[in-house]
Amino acid sequence: MTITDVLSLVRPHLLNLQPYSSARDEFDQSAIGTQQFVYLDANESPYDTGSNRYPDPYQRELKEKISAIKGIPSKQVFVGNGSDEAIDLVIRLFCNENDNILIPSPTYGMYKVSAEINNIQLKTALLDENFQLTKSFISNTDKNTKVIFLCSPNNPSGNLIDVQSVLDEFRGIVVVDEAYIDFTTTPSYIKQIDRYPNLVVLQTFSKAWGLAGLRLGMAFAQPEIISLLNKIKPPYNISSAAQRLGLQALAQEARMKQWVASIISERSRVAKELSKLTTVKMVFPSDANFLLVRIARAAEVYDELITSKIVVRDRSRVVRCEDCLRISIGTKEENDQLLEALRLSK
Ligand SMILES: *Cc1c(COP(=O)(O)O)cnc(C)c1O
Repeated sequence: MTITDVLSLVRPHLLNLQPYSSARDEFDQSAIGTQQFVYLDANESPYDTGSNRYPDPYQRELKEKISAIKGIPSKQVFVGNGSDEAIDLVIRLFCNENDNILIPSPTYGMYKVSAEINNIQLKTALLDENFQLTKSFISNTDKNTKVIFLCSPNNPSGNLIDVQSVLDEFRGIVVVDEAYIDFTTTPSYIKQIDRYPNLVVLQTFSKAWGLAGLRLGMAFAQPEIISLLNKIKPPYNISSAAQRLGLQALAQEARMKQWVASIISERSRVAKELSKLTTVKMVFPSDANFLLVRIARAAEVYDELITSKIVVRDRSRVVRCEDCLRISIGTKEENDQLLEALRLSK
């Protein structure tokens, strides 16, 4: 596929859309230099609160830093109000009312919700018992399938998904949601963007970077797609506080790597300890920061854990996750509390 093929998938009225032009769009200080200006262009308050000025609508400084860390040009980086915003924008960019998206099942819940909010059809294809795509996955698409969302490592199962087979076969947009990529040694797909112009990779600051409360997500794609996402996003989608705190976190990459190393080592310890319990039927292999655990009387165990003031995610009513709890990896102390509570549970 070429970028021209990809642009032909965009909803035509958005290609010609004249976006909202903010005051700071029309006057870009960075183009002129570091002089101090008197800002009377945006109806802001002149009184310094630390946040009285509108934020950079294109998050240039933050993107430069992301670009350096990820080794990808900043014009291939989009920053969203969480990756959830990018999920919604991708659907809005490509899907007209008769179009549909395809997702595997079970997977992350926001693809379905975003499809429903945008009133477009959702197709789902059941994963096999090992949470892998079946051979016939692509046959679930039709001529109106614009986007396939693949979450790898997958939520709630924790395993990597065979993205390559889909990229090789599907001639629509392939979104690879890598929210958990930092917890696996498998390389990210962001380096494949030049090879596959129909590829959009999502990552987030919410997991490994420890910033779920800030709402910062990333999308990586060809510059043409990034420009279109920028064109249709709310102008100031990332607050100045989020941009500043995101930059601060990125300056401490070593701290993030330490956290990830602890979580990975705790993940194998917790998996091993859980397997020793007679009530535990299966601990699914995980490349993420959580474990999917098949356990006798899962829904009741969930309630017992609540009584012990431990909250996990009850996935027992999700397809393929019968009797399963999804358990995030915490600190060593938190994980010990969980294991102790489960040992005491009858
Ligand atoms: C947690 C998670 C996200 C994160 O979304 P944000 O909006 O960036 O917090 C995205 N995708 C998946 C699959 C997740 O599990």
